[in-house]
Amino acid sequence: MLSRQDQLDALRAVLEEQFQRQTEELTELTVYSGDPERNGYDPHEIATRIATTRQTLAETTQALQRMAEGTYGRCEECQADIPVERLEIRPQARYCVACQRVRSA
Ligand SMILES: [Zn+2]
Repeated sequence: MLSRQDQLDALRAVLEEQFQRQTEELTELTVYSGDPERNGYDPHEIATRIATTRQTLAETTQALQRMAEGTYGRCEECQADIPVERLEIRPQARYCVACQRVRSA
């Protein structure tokens, strides 16, 4: 049985890998957007993909930042521990399920 800290440490590796992948993807898309052929993407699609990837990358960066600060896995609203099961599905999560529900309502 892993402790919560061990489980959070395992998520750090997941986030670092995502950070790496999203950075590469953003670099790739940026290169494509400057290319006349755009690797087959239409200009609107590539703009959308760049925006989405940039947003996800920002969320991943923030999650890694919270890990560095030791606040990762704590709900920013009610300060409760976010269940690891939720973080495994969505490692960038900033809120527990209840607070997220209120925010997106
Ligand atoms: Zn909460």
